[in-house]
Amino acid sequence: MIGGGNPVVVQSMVKTDPQDLQQTLGQLRDLKRVGCEVAAVALAHEDICRSIPFLKKEVEMPIVGDVLFNHAIALKAMELGIDGVLINPGVIGNARKVKEVATAARESRIPVCIAIDIGSLEKRIQKKYQTPNAAAVVESALYHARLLEDAGHAAIGISLKASGTLETVEAYRRISDASDYPLCLHLPEGGPLFSGVIRSSAGLAILLNEGVGDTIRVSLTGNPVQEVAAAFHLLRGLGLRKRGVNIVSCPTCCKCRVDLRGIVAEFEKETSHIDTYLNVAIMGCEANGPGEAREADIGIAFGAQRATLFGKGSVRKTGIRLELAKGVLLEEIANLSR
Ligand code: SF4
Repeated sequence: MIGGGNPVVVQSMVKTDPQDLQQTLGQLRDLKRVGCEVAAVALAHEDICRSIPFLKKEVEMPIVGDVLFNHAIALKAMELGIDGVLINPGVIGNARKVKEVATAARESRIPVCIAIDIGSLEKRIQKKYQTPNAAAVVESALYHARLLEDAGHAAIGISLKASGTLETVEAYRRISDASDYPLCLHLPEGGPLFSGVIRSSAGLAILLNEGVGDTIRVSLTGNPVQEVAAAFHLLRGLGLRKRGVNIVSCPTCCKCRVDLRGIVAEFEKETSHIDTYLNVAIMGCEANGPGEAREADIGIAFGAQRATLFGKGSVRKTGIRLELAKGVLLEEIANLSR
């Protein structure tokens, strides 16, 4: 369920060619494993739609067809069982075609997400605004939502792209004030892992903290699994979702005598599939580490030779040999997440 006070849904997108069924299936399964709740596939032409029945049969996760510019592909995708379509009405080009998509979606009982891009606004709006801005993007989105509603289709989501992050934030604020449509937040200016996560989070956090947004996608140049991980970190940080293992670790200093960076990276990888919400602290020394480790659901503080395990405020185990520490912590996490 999207919108209407339901938890913010995490979306991502497979980056493979859907005609390569095994690769696409592998990526969809990876996304599902890390908690992705809706996955988009790019449907660049009608032939690609033939992969939909196979993917739907193999993966239990809603799959949305990103068709953007071609209404015929949207119709084909719906005929073959897609769970939702993402269209850019400005590029599809005329009201009749948009209505055809709406009618087919209503009959298939699936949602349509309208993606409005400041670069492809209809001529009427371009003329009215001269220099397109957030208000122009919102006017276009509301116009197209009305077209879908006139065709009797009410399951509508809206995604906006204005010029840069801050103007897009402004557009989402405006449309949130003006309507109740579920908003699918996907900010422009994605990028490689480090800068992409920061840029996306900066804009998404503003909106989410104001209660704006019903789905999010963090857009990264890289493995989509990282998009999902980043989205959940953001939602957990804002207190909007409680899912998965939340690792808190110290920045390390000269008191740390273990390879904490390597240890944390391994833990993150080995716990990425766990749904249960758990705070896990991994600290680099036994001098200052125990304080934070005690506050977590489960925590560990590493000394030079041995480690100490904490659980909900008290010491659970002392003198753990370093080579056994990872196994001990993973076992505790597994017990708590059963
Ligand atoms: Fe340094 Fe210990 Fe603090 Fe980590 S917990 S930053 S190792 S003092």
